[in-house]
Amino acid sequence: MFSTKYAIIGSGPAAFYAAQAIRKRDPGGKLVMIGAEGYLPYFRPLTSYRIADLVPKEKIFLREEEYYHRHKIEFISGKVTEVKGEEKILAYTPLSNNGEEKSASDTQNAHCACRLHFEKLLIASGAAPSKPDIPGIDTPGVYYLRTINDAEKIAARAKGRKRALLLGGGLVSLKTAYSLHKLGLETTLVIASDRILSQMLDNEGAEMVARHLAEKGLEMVFQNDITEIHGNGSGVTGVTLADGRKLKTDLIVVGKGVKPCTSFLKESGIEEENGIPVNEQLQTNLPDVYAAGDVVLSKDLLLEKPANNALWPNATAQGEIAGANMSGEQIIYRGSMKMNAAEFFGLPVIAAGLGRVQEGAADHPYEICRARNSTGSGKEMCYLKLVFQEDLLVGYISIGENRKAGVLTNLIMSRRPLSQRHKEQLAEGNLSLPF
Ligand SMILES: Cc1cc2nc3c(=O)[nH]c(=O)nc-3n(C[C@H](O)[C@H](O)[C@H](O)COP(=O)(O)OP(=O)(O)OC[C@H]3O[C@@H](n4cnc5c(N)ncnc54)[C@H](O)[C@@H]3O)c2cc1C
Repeated sequence: MFSTKYAIIGSGPAAFYAAQAIRKRDPGGKLVMIGAEGYLPYFRPLTSYRIADLVPKEKIFLREEEYYHRHKIEFISGKVTEVKGEEKILAYTPLSNNGEEKSASDTQNAHCACRLHFEKLLIASGAAPSKPDIPGIDTPGVYYLRTINDAEKIAARAKGRKRALLLGGGLVSLKTAYSLHKLGLETTLVIASDRILSQMLDNEGAEMVARHLAEKGLEMVFQNDITEIHGNGSGVTGVTLADGRKLKTDLIVVGKGVKPCTSFLKESGIEEENGIPVNEQLQTNLPDVYAAGDVVLSKDLLLEKPANNALWPNATAQGEIAGANMSGEQIIYRGSMKMNAAEFFGLPVIAAGLGRVQEGAADHPYEICRARNSTGSGKEMCYLKLVFQEDLLVGYISIGENRKAGVLTNLIMSRRPLSQRHKEQLAEGNLSLPF
């Protein structure tokens, strides 16, 4: 067993920004980061672009290897299997650099190092794709996209194949569809809800983006589900839908949400249920154990209740604050919120906060303003929706342009009260507010 001042479980953005924050305050304290993917931290939202090789692999890493040496961040390729929170011990299985388990001979030297004692621990193990219970789901050719390795497997399967099917109409499915379509595959999305991006957009925005995607050649089947996956010796060949239709396909990518990675916390003494609850300083129920990123249930800034807003900007902000607090600060995390920016076949789509709320709900307290084609050209697709709760901006959707996003997101996060005149100016697209 060896000892470390700081241990971090995971090697995603929450882990990386925590390590960076620790190093800013404590340049010398021993710091160990244990990651199960065999890769240094990378920009996960770019993994879908790896399917069609639209981004070079070396460009997706947050920092080069040299950075970790220079800042004395010891990276261990390993999977944490157990944590004893009160005793401050964790156990892990060493992995080789491609994330595979090491053979017995490889691990001989590392064996004594498979347990470590920590003073402060950060759990930043992220989330993993949910696996739906569908007959045939384990057929070769059915994939999930979370990691670089997943993207490489999907790319290998897609090579020379004709058709792809995406299960789900969320962000990951749409980004994956884009790459598969770029590779020349006929691409179909099977979506349980009545719209795409239902966690991000309202009906109107979703319809606009769906029209754009259809024009680019994506097929979308709404309010339907896969009830069975069929295959033969070479893997998946097709599916049966809930309405009885049969569709042929050569590969399936499942995008039915994610769930926090916490299996190693059984018997740890650290509370968790559908995520790890944390306080305002991002501490778990044990004060020297912190959690950040997709694995946490943190306060939603706008709803003021615990939520799992599993998104990149929340993970980076939480990592940074958890790392600072682990090294002695007492910074308060004000809360997470939904915020997303993506481009779908050249169309920028940004949404934050409660942007997707709809009119009509009996007791909803929101004031909604919409503007369309505000570029003035009449040709460019453009949609701006603002959601106010009394004098606060609490959400927005912007489709077709992204210039307003920074100002609007800051207004939501700062909870800055707006006069009626300011609200009207915002709705007209005038962002030069005199504060
Ligand atoms: C294809 C794709 C596109 C996305 N696009 C967007 C986007 O446009 N905008 C956005 O905001 N978000 C996007 N996201 C989500 C975003 O990437 C995540 O919110 C973010 O990566 C979460 O960071 P994290 O550090 O909490 O966890 P992760 O990035 O999941 O990192 C956690 C790490 O911990 C490791 N780990 C898990 N268990 C263990 C263990 N037992 N031992 C050791 N290591 C372990 C995992 O292998 C992983 O490397 C996207 C995600 C995907 C997959």
